[in-house]
Amino acid sequence: MSQSGIVIIGAGEAGVSAAATLRSEGYDGQIIVLSDEPDSPYQRPPLSKEFILENQHQPAEIKGEAWFKENEIDLRLGARVLSVHADKKLLSYTEVGNSDPAIKIEYDKLLIATGARARMIDNLVSSKTHVLRTQLDARELRSELNRATDICVVGAGVIGLEVASTVRALGKNVTVLDIASRAMGRALAPELSEFLVSAHTLRGVEIHMNERDIIVEESADRLHISSEKNAIAADLLLAGCGVQPNVELAKSIGCDVDNGIVVDEHGASSIPDIYAAGDVANFYHPFYGEHLRLEAWRHAINHAAHVARRMLDKPSEYAELPWFWTDQLGMNIQVVGLAAQAERTVWRYDGDAKTAFHFAGDTLIAATTIDNGRVMTPLTRLIASRWSGDADQLLDTSTPLAKTCKALIKQSQLVQ
Ligand SMILES: Cc1cc2nc3c(=O)[nH]c(=O)nc-3n(C[C@H](O)[C@H](O)[C@H](O)COP(=O)(O)OP(=O)(O)OC[C@H]3O[C@@H](n4cnc5c(N)ncnc54)[C@H](O)[C@@H]3O)c2cc1C
Repeated sequence: MSQSGIVIIGAGEAGVSAAATLRSEGYDGQIIVLSDEPDSPYQRPPLSKEFILENQHQPAEIKGEAWFKENEIDLRLGARVLSVHADKKLLSYTEVGNSDPAIKIEYDKLLIATGARARMIDNLVSSKTHVLRTQLDARELRSELNRATDICVVGAGVIGLEVASTVRALGKNVTVLDIASRAMGRALAPELSEFLVSAHTLRGVEIHMNERDIIVEESADRLHISSEKNAIAADLLLAGCGVQPNVELAKSIGCDVDNGIVVDEHGASSIPDIYAAGDVANFYHPFYGEHLRLEAWRHAINHAAHVARRMLDKPSEYAELPWFWTDQLGMNIQVVGLAAQAERTVWRYDGDAKTAFHFAGDTLIAATTIDNGRVMTPLTRLIASRWSGDADQLLDTSTPLAKTCKALIKQSQLVQ
């Protein structure tokens, strides 16, 4: 058994960011990072984009082997944690594909950064059904895509639509089916969902929303996908049906679990010295005064860095507004705030750059930029100031948007 220190389960963005922060904050004890994946830590966002489109050899690394060595962080790949005994501060893991007895390690503090996995729906299972979460998934999907002409994507969420966009760019026929009424409905304002469906349709992607009872049958090397309203044939199906957080381990320890591991504003779970960060954490967000679970790259990094500081009892706050980007059909779309809660959207056009402002009542709660990410910082500050007012003040294109935001933030501060 090794001497105890901080153990991190998961070497995604959250796990690696936490390890890096522990070191940069001066922690000189032992850090062990356990990952059940065989690959050295890599970035997931390229998997649905350039990794497939440009046939990249590797997705970008989060940190390489040399970095782990230099920082004396003990990264163990192919190490699946099976159980944690919180009372003894002891966990055991096995090496994937190895039948040797489980290896036990002690910890002083434990960070669970186990992320999420792709959700699969029974009716969609076939020998040609794929999901996309890991590098291995992406390699399998890419190799099958080479042989496929007609692709069906079930789920018009971010992964489904990014893959639709990517495979369309490769010249394939793509049909997207979704039971929901809105594309990317959990992440976008209603007007943006409509905008995106029109943009995909214009590029030749067929999108059918409100599709009930989707089932798949396989015959003669083809898939037959039918719903209440449609029947299509395809060579390959991508199930883009969202993710489920990897909470089983936390549940077995007795941590509170509710759509993720429930943690407070410091990332602490309901069990002493056990923390959670990133996609798996349902964390208290002080700006909203409620718990949120986010599935976004920057959140995983920054939330985990914050939790790592709190694990060392260093001062830290995390009230960052939710932010994510998606690249589809050659457009870069960025969203800040909880856009899905928008009641009203107004648009601003600065040449080709588009900005959509999302309001609940008179309060600006979120914004979406299309090929205009450079205004994200002032927009984020404006939303964080809880500015409310006449939307027309944002639409005067004779004044740069960044300048307008600055003036309105001042206005907002004077009111408060
Ligand atoms: C294809 C794709 C495209 C994306 N594109 C974007 C984008 O454009 N913009 C954006 O903002 N976000 C995007 N995201 C989301 C973003 O990548 C994630 O939010 C982020 O990577 C989550 O990091 P994480 O470390 O919390 O979890 P993960 O990356 O899921 O890492 C968790 C790790 O823990 C491992 N693990 C789980 N259980 C165990 C166990 N018992 N023992 C050991 N290891 C375990 C998992 O296998 C995994 O390696 C994308 C995600 C995907 C999949």
